Amino acid sequence: MQSMESGVIFDIKKFSIHDGPGIRTTVFMKGCPLSCCWCHNPESQLVSREKLYAVNRCIGCMECIAVCPENAIRNKEIGLFTDPDRCMACGSCADACLAEACEMAGREMTVNQVLDEIEKDTAFHDESFGGVTFSGGEPLAQPDFLFALLKACKDRQIHTALDTSGFSTRKVLDRIRHYVDVFLFDLKGIKDDKDNVLAIGAFVSGLPLIPPIDLLPYHNLAAAKFERLGKSYRLHDHGLHGVGPRQLCETEHKTPEDMGLFRS
Ligand code: SF4
Ligand code: SF4
Repeated sequence: MQSMESGVIFDIKKFSIHDGPGIRTTVFMKGCPLSCCWCHNPESQLVSREKLYAVNRCIGCMECIAVCPENAIRNKEIGLFTDPDRCMACGSCADACLAEACEMAGREMTVNQVLDEIEKDTAFHDESFGGVTFSGGEPLAQPDFLFALLKACKDRQIHTALDTSGFSTRKVLDRIRHYVDVFLFDLKGIKDDKDNVLAIGAFVSGLPLIPPIDLLPYHNLAAAKFERLGKSYRLHDHGLHGVGPRQLCETEHKTPEDMGLFRS
């Protein structure tokens, strides 16, 4: 449950160098309203805690079945099945699993606990003009918690970046924007066809200030995570790895600038 004082985080990464200026601490917040089929962090999509299971790590000791208070885990032909209707995400199976085949994504943290983690990296931030980046998931999916985190960072003069698709209300964006130094705005290309890329280019070209842009191709690195969550990966057979706007530009014999996409 999120509030001003606490929310759900699924990872805090140290020494990030691709999430904004300098060396950064990236805080991954759980929850996203979009559910993109190419999602890089599918364990972030639900705000609530979730269980992951890696069949290739499982040694078949059955400890998880023994400790599960909900009788949610069953044997299947290969590996185990967790009934999502029974699982309460209590984490007992993950605690009992010595092979680390079961793990939980998401833990409740207070603002002070997150700030304590961030401030362990202050020397790196100061030395590199870095700071903290809030990512996800979609950080705006926990608006009150995000606001409290951003405000606490600003109170302590920590540089802030927000990695977001912008999927929220104007009211939420107006409230947080004064506490964000850098927006890393993720414009999702629903398809990589010419019309989509041109439409995104036209949109960006029409902005009063043209920001630096990175063109990111599709990749399938998260396919295994979908499987570990018991979710199907819808792009398995599409062979799209590495395909993106940059490739389209090459096919069309145009530069990104010609298509309205200015590169950083
Ligand atoms: S406790 Fe871990 S290793 Fe043992 S059966 Fe369960 S998932 Fe597999
Ligand atoms: S998280 Fe808890 S309820 Fe869910 S399968 Fe594991 S032990 Fe059972």
